[in-house]
Order: sequence, then C-alpha cells, then structure tokens
Amino acid sequence: MKLILLGPPGAGKGTQAKRLTADLGIPQISTGDILREAVRNGTELGRKAGPLMEAGKLVPDEIVIGIIDERLRAPDAEKGFILDGFPRTTAQAEALDAALKKSGRELDRVLALEVPEEKIVERISGRRSCPKDGSVFHVIANPPRREGICDACGGELVQRPDDSEEKVVERLRQYRENTAPLVDYYEKRSLLARVQGVGSPEGIFTEIKRVLGEVSR
Ligand code: AMP
Repeated sequence: MKLILLGPPGAGKGTQAKRLTADLGIPQISTGDILREAVRNGTELGRKAGPLMEAGKLVPDEIVIGIIDERLRAPDAEKGFILDGFPRTTAQAEALDAALKKSGRELDRVLALEVPEEKIVERISGRRSCPKDGSVFHVIANPPRREGICDACGGELVQRPDDSEEKVVERLRQYRENTAPLVDYYEKRSLLARVQGVGSPEGIFTEIKRVLGEVSR
C-alpha cells in the first residue's frame, strides 16, 4: 500500500500514520521528522532547514525532494509506505510521481484529513512532543500519564518551537497557498479520499481503514 496523508498542520497526519504503520507493517515517512532529526544532530541539512522550520516556512523543494528520493529507495519502503507531510507543493508532487515511475511503482491512495481551521490552533497549541522517540501528546485530549513525561520512553516532553500560536498562523498560510492545491491535483487523478479528521483518533482510524478497504477490493 503506497499512501499519502494530506492535510493541514494539526490534522492528525502523524497520529494516523503511526497507527497505519503498526497495522499495515509499512514505514511512516515523515519529512518533518527527518528534518527535525537533522536539526537535533546539527548536520548541514539541519542548519539549512532549522531556521525555516522555526519560522513556519517551507524548506526548499530540492532539499525535501532529495530526502524523499533517497528514502523511497530504502529496502523497507519496497512493499509500501505512508507519506506524512510530503508532498507539500505541486513541484514535490510531480517529483514524487517521477521517482515512483522510475521504480515502476504507483500511488494507491491519497487521504485528505479535513479539519476546520478553528480546531487547528487549539490542537497544535496543546501539543507536546517527545524529542527522543517522536511520541505526541495533547495536554487535554491525550495527556501523558505523568505531566511533561513521555509514556513510551520517559523523555521530557516539549512544545515544538513551530507549535506556538503565531507560528501556526504562518504554517496555515503556507498550507493554504502551497499544499491545499494538491487536493485538486490528486482528485483529478481519482486518487483522493476525504476523511473527516474530527473526533476520536480511533474513530478516524476506523474510517481510514474503511476507505482503504475499498481500494484493496
Ligand atoms: P511537519 O512536522 O510535517 O509539520 O513539518 C514541520 C516543518 O518541516 C514544516 O513546517 C516545514 O518547515 C518543514 N517541512 C516538512 N515537510 C516539508 C515538505 N514536504 N516541504 C517543505 N518543508 C517541509
């Protein structure tokens, strides 16, 4: 199964991608996670991407396309993958098409998670992430067992620097301008399925599985 999870920041792409990974046994490929790791490790990529990410801007296409090109060639992505946070521009979507075509692969489905904008700020500003293992919590909707501590690894939870309210406004602007047109791009190619991203994570996952069941039939 080769999937894209599309949607604004805070739509639940990461949460649902993790569930799908566990369920389908295919990797979650998150450009945001890859870039954050590069920032943490202080690599050249991290030094280039860090300031843009912190400002809520997009990292240049050629950089993220290069990352994805390499990641899709890894053996664990052969059976399938879940792209989370990529593509974010039409140029990235076209580069993805080209990369898959070269290796004789095709996308199966693009899931667009739909969440009203007013919900997004509330969701993101309460989000707390574990820099060590990438677990994500929410102070109200999904609090960790011990405040500020990751349930999975005991690491200290932080608020991502780009999860503050004013950065979210910029990230939403970037989404509207650059990424929202991809809904149309994939709809025209009959790959799109819209899923309401509101409600419990379990309920949303059930709906995603229903939609995917239609593909494999
Ligand atoms: P995310 O974790 O998906 O919300 O991504 C966090 C940040 O990483 C974004 O706000 C961008 O600065 C950068 N980023 C992640 N994926 C991409 C992408 N496909 N294209 C450009 N920038 C990206």
